[in-house]
Amino acid sequence: MARTPLADALEMISNVPWWRGWWVMGESRGLVLVVEDEKAIADLERLYLSRAGYGVQVEADGRAGLAAARALHPVAIILDVGLPILDGTEVCRALRADGDWTPVLFVTARDDEVDRVVGLELGADDYITKPFSPRELVARVKTVLRRSSGGGAADERVTTLGEVTLDPARRRMFAAGTEVALTTTEFDLLAYLMRRPGRVFSREQLLSEVWGYAAAAGTRTVDVHIAQLRAKLGAASPIRTVRGVGYAADG
Ligand code: CA
Repeated sequence: MARTPLADALEMISNVPWWRGWWVMGESRGLVLVVEDEKAIADLERLYLSRAGYGVQVEADGRAGLAAARALHPVAIILDVGLPILDGTEVCRALRADGDWTPVLFVTARDDEVDRVVGLELGADDYITKPFSPRELVARVKTVLRRSSGGGAADERVTTLGEVTLDPARRRMFAAGTEVALTTTEFDLLAYLMRRPGRVFSREQLLSEVWGYAAAAGTRTVDVHIAQLRAKLGAASPIRTVRGVGYAADG
């Protein structure tokens, strides 16, 4: 890729020492780990996340990204799928195998990568497809973090529907008496439906209420997370598809 004045300027800014140390100073919203091998994209992500008040650590391959995730305990990870050495799906799988449920926002380049991310039950919290606007990326990170910190719905009551029980205060879910690990997004989506049993919600409504996005972000995200929930819950799943409308949870 040809270098541009913008890329040079970004590199200069990102090399300013206080920039990197910003998150340590207590001003920060926390450290976000960016694993991205395209330098121009990594620089843009660093710039916008830093402006939004996050500390940013960038790694350019999957192995370094995994090591950084384990060493630095970031509040969120922005994980490119196509990476050298270990790809993004392998990084995420390794973290989840450790019991590390740090929110992961995948960056995908093509539709077939979306399929890989969502089809493998990797525990992705969200994904965004290139090319994306950096502002949209920051909005997604904020949303994922707001949800993972439990700062969204303040309803902490234990909810049971059929064989499924949710404990929002501890963010734990049990299906037929067995605990099942859910991502932040999966938990919030299931909780939203289970607290309103029998009511049918469109994909646009769920995207707006659970994700906090405008519907333009794409309703496929909802289908993907419903599929992941069903795969995890098996026969205990209370989720019903209402053809041509959306989804509901029934007891
Ligand atoms: Ca890449």
